[in-house]
Amino acid sequence: MLSITLVINAVYVVCAALFIFGLKMMGHPSTARKGNLLSAVGMLAAIIVTLLDNAIVSYQWIFIAVCAGTLVGILAARLVAMTSMPEMVSLLNGVGGIASLLVAWASIHDAVEINQLMLLVGFLAILIGGVTFSGSVVAWAKLSERIAGRPLVFAGQKFVNLLIVTAIVVCGYLFVTQPQLDTVTYAVVGLALVFGIMLVLPIGGADMPVVISLLNSYSGLAACAAGFALQNNLLIVAGSLVGASGVILTQIMCKAMNRSLSNVLFSGFQSVVSSDMVIEGEVKPLSAEDAFYVLEAAQSVVVVPGYGMAVAQAQHALKELQDLLEENGCEVAYAIHPVAGRMPGHMNVLLAEADVSYEQLFEMDEINPRMETFDVAMVIGANDVVNPAAREMQGSPIYGMPVINADLAKNVFVFKRSMASGFAGIDNPLFFKDNSNMIFGDAKDSLNAIIRQFDDD
Ligand code: NDP
Repeated sequence: MLSITLVINAVYVVCAALFIFGLKMMGHPSTARKGNLLSAVGMLAAIIVTLLDNAIVSYQWIFIAVCAGTLVGILAARLVAMTSMPEMVSLLNGVGGIASLLVAWASIHDAVEINQLMLLVGFLAILIGGVTFSGSVVAWAKLSERIAGRPLVFAGQKFVNLLIVTAIVVCGYLFVTQPQLDTVTYAVVGLALVFGIMLVLPIGGADMPVVISLLNSYSGLAACAAGFALQNNLLIVAGSLVGASGVILTQIMCKAMNRSLSNVLFSGFQSVVSSDMVIEGEVKPLSAEDAFYVLEAAQSVVVVPGYGMAVAQAQHALKELQDLLEENGCEVAYAIHPVAGRMPGHMNVLLAEADVSYEQLFEMDEINPRMETFDVAMVIGANDVVNPAAREMQGSPIYGMPVINADLAKNVFVFKRSMASGFAGIDNPLFFKDNSNMIFGDAKDSLNAIIRQFDDD
C-alpha cells in the first residue's frame, strides 16, 4: 500500500513539473502549443495515477463522467466562437468552483475522523468554490447580455454585504466547531452563492474581463483548499498554480487599463463622457479605392487590431493584404495592446491563426516611440485601445490608460462599421483628427475591397 502511495506521489511531482514547464512555455506564442500539450500530458498522467488510488468508489461513474466531459469539451472547443471566449472561460471557472465545493463537501461528509484544520480548509473550499460558481454565472450572464452588462448598484448594498460577511464568519465558526450540524453546511453553501452574486453585480462594462481573470484565480484557490481537504498533493499544487497565474493576469490587465484592483471591484466602471469633453474636427469617410492609392504608395504600415477584427474574422484578409503590401516593398508591423479584444492574447491567437509572423508583432511600449515614422496606421476594429482621450482629455473615464498612439502616424485608416463607441462606451477623438479617415463597413469586407484594387492594378 505504501509503495502505491509513493508511486502516486512521485508521478504527482513529475505532473507538477509538467504543469510548471507548460505554463512557462505558454508565455511565448512560438512555444505556447507545446506548452499546452505538455500540461495536458501532465493532467492525463495525474488522472491515471489518481485512478490507482484505493479511495476510488466506482470506476463506472468515473468513466461516464470522463466521456461526458470529453464530449462537452470537444463540442465547446469546436462550436464556441473566438468572440465568445470570455463567456466560455467564465463558465469553466464556475464549473471549477462548483466542483471544488462538491468535492470538499463530500470529503467532509464522508470523513470517519476529521480535525478542525481539515474542517477549516473544507469550509474555505466550499466558500470560495460557491463564490466562484455564482460569481462566474453572473459574469457569464452579463457578458452574454442575458442580464444588463452595466454595474448594478442599489441603496444599502454595502450594508447588505456586511451582513453577509458577518453571517459567513459566524457560520464558518459553527462549521468548524460543530461539524455534525448539516444546516450550517447548507447555510455556508447558500451564503457563498449569494456573496458571489453580490460581488459581481456591481461590476460591469470594460471591467468584466478583469473580474473573470480574478474568478479564475478564485477557482484555483478553491481547488487548492479542496486539495487540502482531500489530502491530495497534486490538487494543492495545480490549484496554487491557477490561483497565482490568475492573480498575475488580473494585475497585468489592471495595469494595462491604469486601474487598481480595488477600483475595479468597488467603484463601478464609469462609461459616461463628462460634459466638458468636447470633440472637435470632422469625420472623413474614405473609399476602398482611395485607401488603395495611399497604401500602394506607403513605405511603412502599422496595423492596430482590436475586438472588431475578431468579430469580422478579418485576420486572413489582413494577412493577404500584408503580403501584397510587402510584395510592394512596404514594411508591415502589428501593434498589439495588452487588452485589445476581450481577453489578453486575443489578437495574438487570431494573427497566429492567419500565419502572421511573431517577429512582426510589437507590444505597445515598443511600437509607440516609432509611431510617427509610419506612413499609415490601419486600425482594424480597435477603438478604446487607440483612444487618444486617454492622453488628452482629463475628464475622460479612461484618462491615464496606456493606449497605442495610432493618431501620431502620418495617416490613420479606421476600419469599423459605424461611429459607435467601443467596449468602454466612450467617444473617440481619433476619428475626428485631421490625419484620420474612416473606412466604414465590416472589416473583412473593406479589406477584401482593398485587396481587389491591388489585384486589378
Ligand atoms: P473596442 O471594444 O473598444 O472596439 C471594438 C470596435 O470594433 C467597435 O468600436 C466596433 O465598432 C468595431 N467592430 C465591431 N464589429 C466590427 C466588424 N465586423 N468590422 C469592423 N469593426 C467592427 O475594442 P478594443 O480592442 O479597442 O478594446 C478592448 C476593450 O475591452 C477595451 O475597453 C478594454 O479595456 C476592454 N478589456 C479588454 C480586456 C482584454 O483582456 N482584452 C480585459 C479587460 C477589458 P462598430 O460597431 O462601429 O463596427
